[in-house]
Formats: sequence, structure tokens, C-alpha cells
Amino acid sequence: MRSTHAGVVIIGGGVLGASAAFHLAEAGVHGVVLLDKGPIASGTTPFAAGQTGYLNRDRVALEFSTYCIEFFERFRDRTGYPIDFRQTGSLRVALTDRYRTDLKDRQQVAAANGDRVEFLSAGQVQRRVPLLDLPPDAAVLSIPRDGWVEPKSVAVAFAAAARDRGVSIRTRLPVTRIETRDGSVCAVHTPEGRIETRWVVLAAGAWTRRLGQDLGLNLPTVPVRHQAFVTAPIAGVLPDQPIVRITEPQVYARPEAGGLLVGGYGYRPLSFDMADFPPHFEIAALEADPVGYRQLSAAAGRFFPCLRDAVVVQERRGLPTISPDGKLLVGEPAGCRGLLVASACAVGGIDRSPGVGRIVAELVSGKPVWGPATALTVDRFGDDFTEDAGLRAGCEEIYAHHYHEVY
Ligand SMILES: Cc1cc2nc3c(=O)[nH]c(=O)nc-3n(C[C@H](O)[C@H](O)[C@H](O)COP(=O)(O)OP(=O)(O)OC[C@H]3O[C@@H](n4cnc5c(N)ncnc54)[C@H](O)[C@@H]3O)c2cc1C
Repeated sequence: MRSTHAGVVIIGGGVLGASAAFHLAEAGVHGVVLLDKGPIASGTTPFAAGQTGYLNRDRVALEFSTYCIEFFERFRDRTGYPIDFRQTGSLRVALTDRYRTDLKDRQQVAAANGDRVEFLSAGQVQRRVPLLDLPPDAAVLSIPRDGWVEPKSVAVAFAAAARDRGVSIRTRLPVTRIETRDGSVCAVHTPEGRIETRWVVLAAGAWTRRLGQDLGLNLPTVPVRHQAFVTAPIAGVLPDQPIVRITEPQVYARPEAGGLLVGGYGYRPLSFDMADFPPHFEIAALEADPVGYRQLSAAAGRFFPCLRDAVVVQERRGLPTISPDGKLLVGEPAGCRGLLVASACAVGGIDRSPGVGRIVAELVSGKPVWGPATALTVDRFGDDFTEDAGLRAGCEEIYAHHYHEVY
């Protein structure tokens, strides 16, 4: 069998793997090889809504998301490639006391961070999003730094910038096995041969848990279906209107090509074991949940009456990964030195990709650990989720209440 050598092998050229490649090269790490079983961004990444949402209540999470938003604001300067980031802002809506309080807390956090976010009157909301119909007591917090981006362009730009800095990228080359010796990673296997390496970045999206299982690891990250749809152009949708996120029904809507892109959490959450799919399954072939789509459309239609007779022109869906606390997993699991897991995007991998790449690069290059990384370690659940069924149920539950507890 042919054998070559790499400093670092990244498995997966989605947005997380591509960001890791860029950040590793920026950190001066040599011999980085990125492999994908398909083209770049051929997993869940191209189906995302591409929204960013930086305002976290938790201060450590805020430090992480501030790095990410600043990266998006200066993406071209940082990478050399433009990504058409539409910083339209977002409106976060609360309909009940519990979440009205939550919005006030978020406003305070933003103020402490030096950012201006403000509550809007009904008239101000009407001018910004004319087709939004809210009850009179709805609280609406405007977050100007949020926005959205075409998701594939982010992964592509990271990959191109990584290639410019010396990363070798091979597409249509699956990793069939990760080899370990004495508890450390030592090589990956592909149909073209074996690549010796002491670092493997496991950024294989929905397939991450399965690749870990092959090594005897129980990585607490589970693929859960997430769905969104896009309508044909609707008169009254403004091209630069902000994203609308409505907390209680857990729906979001942003403009897309003259229509609305609508998605939401908690609509019939369903996790998957990738072993149940055929060997060459691709995310693009993921079956729709039509009931979930109907529920989502009905929930959003209460606040966007224009959706009731809108024509759907595109469905988007994929398998983002979720951990049992809804936070990322980035780091080395006990018992497998040199394996760096980059997973559990919690339907926010586009948004969080710069921060994930930064942590991976710092871990490989031996820099001091960045504060936010300490909350994202792979082994933080201890023995809590050793059973597959319990882990999947826990992750589905987190997904079911994503807007309520986590975001
Ligand atoms: C409808 C929808 C809306 C979304 N909206 C947003 C949003 O508004 N904002 C946001 O930030 N996120 C959003 N997301 C989530 C976002 O898409 C994900 O967080 C992100 O794409 C995850 O990226 P990834 O790199 O982990 O996985 P993926 O994009 O799935 O990439 C994994 C890659 O690994 C490769 N791979 C797997 N196994 C192997 C192997 N053995 N060998 C080689 N390669 C392998 C795959 O081919 C794939 O290219 C949304 C997702 C969906 C479905």
C-alpha cells in the first residue's frame, strides 16, 4: 500500500473543516492535507440559511461569537476572498414574559460588550419588515451586527484561502479508516493509500460520530434533521430587511431572492445513525419530512400572513450535529491523542466556523488555550451519555428547544 506523510489531515471540507484548514495555515502549521469524500461543501453546509447571531447571554460564548462576527465583518481582509456578508441586522421577538425578560438580559450583555441593541416600537418594526404581523405586546430587540451569508461561499473562500497558504486539498477521496497506535493517531487510510500523520481533525459533519465509533470512541455528537424552505418573490419583502427570529414558536425568516427563507426548530426532531443509510448516501438525498414542513409553514404563517399562499420554490434540509448541551465539541477526546474533533455545530456551523478553526489551530500549534475552548471540550459529559438511545434522545431534546434555551 502506498504511504505518504502529512503534518495534519483534516477529514471533511465542509465549513468547519475548511475553516480549520485556513486557520492552521495562518498559524504557520505545515503539511496540512484536507480530504473530502465529495467536492468542497458537499455535506450540510450548502443547505444552510447562513445566518449569524452573535448575541449570547453567556459571557464565554459571547467572547467566542464576537471573534466570529469580527471575522465575518473583515472576511476579505482576513482571507483575501469576498463572501457577500449582508449585515442586515436581526430582530429577536418575544411574545411572553419569560422571553421578554430574556431580551432585556441580552440587551444588557450587548451594552457591556460595547454594542448598541435597542427595543423597537411597532411602527419601527413595521417599517423594517412590512409583512411581519405581531401581537401588540410583542417585544422586539434589534441587533444590528447580525446578518447572513451565502453558506457555501464561506466554505469555498476558506478552502481557497487555505490552498493559497499551502494546504493540499483532495476532493472525492474518502477516509476509510483512522489508524491509531498506543492511543495516538498515526495515519488515515484512503482508497489511494495510507497517509501517516500525528494529527487528524475530524470535521466530517454527520459522519463524525460514526468515524469515532470505528475507533471505539463514543463522541457525543448526533446528526439531527433541520429543514427550511424558500418562497417565490413576494411583494413587500425588502431585500435588506433584517432576519426575524421569533422565540416561542422557534421560527426564523430572512429575505432570499425576493421571497422569504423560513426555518425553525423543534418541528418533529429526528436524529440519525449514519450506519442506517446506504454507504454512498449524500446529504442532498435526505428525505423531506412533509409534516414538519407543514407545521413550520403554519407556525411562521401566523406572523407572516403572506406565507399562507406563498409558492415554495426550494426546500433546504440537512443533518447538522448536536451535542447534549447544544454547544460545540472542539478538542481531543481522552484515549485518542492527536484526534481533534470539530463537531456539534447546533445548526450554527457557518456562524461559528471562524472560532472553531481558531481553536483547532491553537491546539495543534500548542498555543495557550483560548478561554471559550475550555467550555467546548469533548469529554465534558463524563459517563452521562454512554447509551446511544439516551444520547440521541438528549440531543433531540436540545434541538427541540434550541431557541428557548441555547441560542
Ligand atoms: C436548513 C438549514 C439551515 C441552516 N441554517 C444555518 C444558519 O442560518 N446559520 C448557521 O450558522 N448554520 C446553519 N445551518 C447549519 C450549518 O449548515 C452547519 O452547522 C454546517 O454546515 C456544518 O458544517 P460541517 O463542516 O460540520 O459539516 P458538513 O457541511 O456536512 O461537512 C462535512 C464534510 O465531511 C465530508 N466527509 C464525511 N465523511 C467523510 C470521510 N469519511 N472522508 C472524507 N470526507 C468526509 C462530507 O462529504 C462533507 O463535505 C443550517 C443547516 C440547515 C440544514
